[in-house]
Amino acid sequence: MNTMKKYWLVLSPDTFIWLKGENGLLYQSVNHTQVPFKNVGTIKSLAGQLDDIDNLYRVELTEEMLQQPEVNGWVRQIVDKQCGRLLENNGTGNRPASMKPVLKLQDGVKYYEWLHRQGIDGCVIQNLHEVVFYLNGSASGDDVLHRQLVYPSTTDAVADREKVIRFVKESKVSPFLSKLSLAGNLLVFPHLEEMAEELQAICPVKLYITVEDALNGLPQLKEWADKLSVQILVNDFPSLEMLLDANGWCAGLQFTLVVTSVQTYEAATGIINKYGLEHVELVPAYTGENLPFFEDCIYPDAGELAGVSLSKKDIFIRQTLNVTDFGKLYIEPDGKVYANLDNAPLGMIDDSPHDLVYKELTEGHSWLHIRDQEPCRECVYQWLCPSPSNYERVIGRPDLCKMAMGNEA
Ligand code: SF4
Repeated sequence: MNTMKKYWLVLSPDTFIWLKGENGLLYQSVNHTQVPFKNVGTIKSLAGQLDDIDNLYRVELTEEMLQQPEVNGWVRQIVDKQCGRLLENNGTGNRPASMKPVLKLQDGVKYYEWLHRQGIDGCVIQNLHEVVFYLNGSASGDDVLHRQLVYPSTTDAVADREKVIRFVKESKVSPFLSKLSLAGNLLVFPHLEEMAEELQAICPVKLYITVEDALNGLPQLKEWADKLSVQILVNDFPSLEMLLDANGWCAGLQFTLVVTSVQTYEAATGIINKYGLEHVELVPAYTGENLPFFEDCIYPDAGELAGVSLSKKDIFIRQTLNVTDFGKLYIEPDGKVYANLDNAPLGMIDDSPHDLVYKELTEGHSWLHIRDQEPCRECVYQWLCPSPSNYERVIGRPDLCKMAMGNEA
């Protein structure tokens, strides 16, 4: 009589399993541990059964399988990291079951199209959370930075103030609209303060101005900073030092420091320490010539991806929408409206915000742009990596990592 014991390996409902060719990864979304493994041999067969939703996230193991060193080590890691449990199968028919974490969502696009056909799609506007208006360009603007962060371009076009106000009033139908950004050389935009205050009564407003432009209108800037949120954009650190030396009232300002190299990073942190700056964000930017900096300092490596701490909800969100782009519209001074400045315009400022949001949700390429293309869709880190960003678009590669560069296993 065969007395060989049998077991059930049952994964936790908080554990994700991802299998991509010969690579596999288990991720426990509560304690944030990972079990990377080679998806070959017996492990491949077991992992494949676990991955099949019909098997209720369990697989039967024999003692003989458990005696294989690779299988034993794999199971031990799964149990030790609380990704799952190993239970003896005593043959009583009392089978354990678990639930694989799978996002159950109506197909958003089809749902919105259905609402539209019924004439009851008014709710789509609720997906609009932020609008960035570029009111004009600036001599200190930068067309490459403009594509990567909120930063003025060098355009000569000037926005139509009445159209901006009308667009905001119509957008406010969205109860989730929570931020209006006004960017450009704001010192020369006619009646900026009056307009910003009118908009502020509808939704919180933030002004974005380069440090060079700010230096040309310090008294004006101080008045704005007393009433409105002001973000100073810094790509020229000597200008920032001039601003900080000239004022004792900078505490109310917020700063974006553009970092393009190790040297600019050191200069930025030096100024932050010297002036005790608070409310500062350091934002890396691609210049067209600093790819090695991105590769060395910005691209995530295996160590960083092994240390991510995402909840189940965070992962479901990354599987659904672009965390950076979702809910934002950008409007250029010429009136063109974009969901992302690196994609084609959705329409014009004269269009209704509702129609623009509906178009982006059903035909667009930004808000729902996720890591579902090569090489990311073949990578076990597909849903642990940040959403695709404009860095990737500007650099011209769909992935930003050392894994895909072949530098790391
Ligand atoms: S960027 Fe893409 S290929 Fe690179 S680790 Fe992330 S998911 Fe994988």
